[in-house]
Amino acid sequence: MKLNIDGLLVYFPHDYIYPEQYSYMLELKRTLDAKGHGVLEMPSGTGKTISLLSLILAYQRAHPLEVSKLIYCSRTVPEIEKVIEELRKLLDFHEKQTGEKLPFLGLALSSRKNLCIHPEVSAFRFGKEVDGKCFSLTASYVRAQHQQDDSVPFCRFFEEFDAHGRQVPLPYGVYNLDDLKAYGRQKGWCPYFLARYSILHANVVVYSYHYLLDPKIASLVSKELARKSVVVFDEAHNIDNVCIDSMGVNITRKTLDRCQGNVATLQATIQKIKDTDAQKLKEEYRRLVEGLREANVARETDVYLANPVLPDEVLQEAVPGNIRTAEHFVAFLKRFLEYLKSRLRVHHVVQESPPSFLKDVFEKVCIERKPLQFCSERLQSLLRTLEIADISDFSPITLISNFATLVSTYSKGCTILIEPFDDRTPTIANPILHFRAKSR
Ligand code: SF4
Repeated sequence: MKLNIDGLLVYFPHDYIYPEQYSYMLELKRTLDAKGHGVLEMPSGTGKTISLLSLILAYQRAHPLEVSKLIYCSRTVPEIEKVIEELRKLLDFHEKQTGEKLPFLGLALSSRKNLCIHPEVSAFRFGKEVDGKCFSLTASYVRAQHQQDDSVPFCRFFEEFDAHGRQVPLPYGVYNLDDLKAYGRQKGWCPYFLARYSILHANVVVYSYHYLLDPKIASLVSKELARKSVVVFDEAHNIDNVCIDSMGVNITRKTLDRCQGNVATLQATIQKIKDTDAQKLKEEYRRLVEGLREANVARETDVYLANPVLPDEVLQEAVPGNIRTAEHFVAFLKRFLEYLKSRLRVHHVVQESPPSFLKDVFEKVCIERKPLQFCSERLQSLLRTLEIADISDFSPITLISNFATLVSTYSKGCTILIEPFDDRTPTIANPILHFRAKSR
């Protein structure tokens, strides 16, 4: 049916509309007119999604210069797929009614785990493994090594996408994850990188909350999305938890033990490079003197472990002198690890603010806030310089470095909690440090 909502022509792919849907659309239209924020509540099963899509797409058509994109954030993959199916239904209905095919692109975006078509990589069970394996085939230095030596493995789907995928936009239409994979297979292009690239010019993007709310992921995926976008958070009562989780870090003794293994590997690799290619370390040092902006000229494939977002003024600065050389940085990490180990020796629960934690770090091991703040970026730079292919092995030390950066950057609104026991095993000593944003 066709509706007139406050003067806006809306195509609605059903023969009947509930009064709730009508008033929902009316409020939504008013929110868009006011360029404001709206909170809308409707019982489940009353057709929220289709009401939203019908109204916003009609608005987009009527005001193309004001609303160029709809970003629809949902929580789970089945929910994302459901929104895509509703979108497809709406587009089909519009085409039947008008007889014209809209120049329209709508797509879902999800993790590599859900989009990878590489036969071996996609067989891994966990997302982190898929990310790590993908990285080991697509990092810029792995690709450079492949140029010199054919036996170095690479991903042919990424290479094909990189060579041709950016020149030809994804044809108009609506794509769920399977459609993207089918298109990727047909072209021989990686569907994950294709989707990440295509969201820039899509009319509707459906993805998980994290792609917009988690600063680590958002800075990677959503940084360049148009400002003139309408953003919908489905089931918005989850936003609080997603935000808290995205800034959260949990550190156990096991994490610290595994970090020690990481540090030993880093030391051994640094020594090896010093003996064979010392120029690489000198070059890194030079880049770090110039500041992080200069040091971070990595390709899209290199930033698979995105770091906590640093304020702009920090990125302009030179990396502190005491962590610039690879060896000094590793020694610095060791000292910080020892400190964290000592903090996990607790018999009762300790709660602390980031400033008091930082004061204690300084008093006990003479580590200042500044180098801590640079920790996660400094580690990423080192992993790149050392050309470590299987980066997923380094997730413990990455976690610790992220924690160092977060605790020294976000002093307000966050808290540190050290508990002697894990909730699940309250009789066995198993200390855990939580860093969390405070919930309101
Ligand atoms: S580039 Fe794409 S296809 Fe290749 S391993 Fe990574 S996610 Fe899989």
